[in-house]
Amino acid sequence: MSDRAPSPFIVNGCRGTTVASSRGGTCRFSLPVPDGFLARLERVVAESGWPDFLRDVVRGPILHHHAFRVAVSACPNGCSRPHIADVGIIRAWTPGRATDACTRCGLCERLCPDHAMTVEEDGPRLHPENCLSCGLCIKRCPEKALPVAREGWRVVVGGRLGRRPRLATELDGLDEVPGASGFPGQSHLLDDDGVVRALRNALAWYMREYRLHLRFGDLVASDPATAARLAGTLPGPVRTPEKMPPMRFDAPDPATGEGEGGAGQTP
Ligand code: SF4
Ligand code: SF4
Ligand code: SF4
Repeated sequence: MSDRAPSPFIVNGCRGTTVASSRGGTCRFSLPVPDGFLARLERVVAESGWPDFLRDVVRGPILHHHAFRVAVSACPNGCSRPHIADVGIIRAWTPGRATDACTRCGLCERLCPDHAMTVEEDGPRLHPENCLSCGLCIKRCPEKALPVAREGWRVVVGGRLGRRPRLATELDGLDEVPGASGFPGQSHLLDDDGVVRALRNALAWYMREYRLHLRFGDLVASDPATAARLAGTLPGPVRTPEKMPPMRFDAPDPATGEGEGGAGQTP
C-alpha cells in the first residue's frame, strides 16, 4: 500500500453515510444522515485554505501522515474510525420519554447494547450516563413509542495512530441542537451547522499554531480549551506561514520517527 496521501485531506464516511442513508441507510445500524453532508464537509476543508497551506509548509511530496483526516460514522459503532481521526463525527439520536403507545414489552431494555434503558412499572427509563445515542431503541420499538428527543452529531477531535497513538477527545459543553430531552448527560450534540463551524475552527486553529511535526492531536492534548476554540469563542494568536521558520518534512522527526525514512509512515 502506498504511503502517499492523494490529497492534503481525507473525508471518509462509513457505509451507513452513503447516498441512501437519509432514507434509512445501507447498514442496519445507520441513523439517517442528511444528503450531501459529506460533500459539504469536503467543501469546508477544501475552502479553508488548508490544502494550499499544507503544500506551502511541506517541502517535498505530501505524505500519508500529513493529510488532515475527517471520519464520519452513522452510528457509534465507528466503522470509519472517528476516534483516530483529526476530527471524528458520529451521528446520534437520543430517545425521549415513551408515549402512551408503549406496552412495556421490554424490548428496548433487552436490545440496548449499553444497558442504558430499563423498563419499569411506569414505562421505559433512560440512564443517560450509559447512553451512546445510537437510536437502536427508537428504531426497533414495535409501537414506535420512543420519540427522537435530540438528533445531531457527537464530535471527537485529535485522534491519531503512529508511535504515540491517541484516542480522540469528545467535545463537551457544545450544544447547538434545539430542544431539551431532560437528560443533562446528553448535552453535547451539535447540529449540521455546528459541526461545520467546529471543523472550520479546528482547521483555522491548527494552521495558526502549526509548527514542525505538530499533529492536530498534540494541539488538542495540550489545550484544555479545545471546545471553546472549536466553538470559535476563544481564537488563538494569528500565525501565518510567512512567519513560520523553515520546515523540512523530508527528514524524520527525531522524537517520533515520522517523516521520510522514519518509522511513523503509517497513519
Ligand atoms: S458505523 Fe454504524 S452505521 Fe456505519 S457502517 Fe458501522 S455499524 Fe454501520
Ligand atoms: S420497546 Fe417500545 S413498546 Fe416496548 S417497552 Fe420499549 S418503548 Fe415500550
Ligand atoms: S439510544 Fe442506544 S444506547 Fe441509548 S438507550 Fe437507546 S439503544 Fe441504548
